[in-house]
Amino acid sequence: AETPTHRRRVLLKLSGEVFGGGAVGVDPATVRGIAEQIAAVKGQVEVSVVVGGGNFFRGAELSRAGMDRARADYIGMLGTVMNALALQDFLEQAGQPTRVQTAITMGQVAESYIPLRAVRHMEKDRVVVFGAGAGMPYFSTDTVCAQRALETHSDMVLMAKSGVDGVYTADPKTNPDAQKLDHLTYGDALRKNIRVMDQTAMTMCNDNDLNMRVFGMEGEGNVTRALLGEEIGTLVTP
Ligand code: UDP
Repeated sequence: AETPTHRRRVLLKLSGEVFGGGAVGVDPATVRGIAEQIAAVKGQVEVSVVVGGGNFFRGAELSRAGMDRARADYIGMLGTVMNALALQDFLEQAGQPTRVQTAITMGQVAESYIPLRAVRHMEKDRVVVFGAGAGMPYFSTDTVCAQRALETHSDMVLMAKSGVDGVYTADPKTNPDAQKLDHLTYGDALRKNIRVMDQTAMTMCNDNDLNMRVFGMEGEGNVTRALLGEEIGTLVTP
């Protein structure tokens, strides 16, 4: 095997749901807990984070309520920036230097997305939090995960899920026969319509040979374990 040129480098996806603890807004206790789990791997793993924004606004929902889709999506993207800043604050409090980079320029609040600089931050043991999605309407933060992970040469995407501890053959909340999978291919997920992440994102991971681990937030220390490479949840591969 080739000698890796960098330490383990991973991209963690935190959906908006995770920030709100199921409600609208940011739940400080929850975000603090996650931040402490990320700070625990400082110096061992290079970490970037893509944050969702569903705890504030989802473009598709606003659009169904009559708003122009693109404008609604910008509102959604701005919501992710609030999550990014909350996470940055608790990471810094936990002793983990953090930079937020946004895909929509807002110089007073965050750096702009500059991929090489993001890599440099990680090499210096800083966590990079990517906010404002791709900066483009009609995209999701799942797709941004795939894109940012590829551009920053990350080893894998870690999808933190709330309320479920991996990928199942059916919805475990409604189907008692649902079985948890240890491994799944993107092709299977797409064919069987298992919604691990949206289709655009899965296609991008599949086509570019990017692995992903889907795991549950709830277990004690699970975020730390996933960051360190423990085989919890479900591995999804091309
Ligand atoms: N969004 C967007 N372009 C992007 C990323 C996000 O337009 O590149 C908008 C979209 O409206 C989305 C919202 O931001 O509904 C919040 O992101 P997402 O739904 O992916 O968050 P999550 O479901 O992970 O909480």
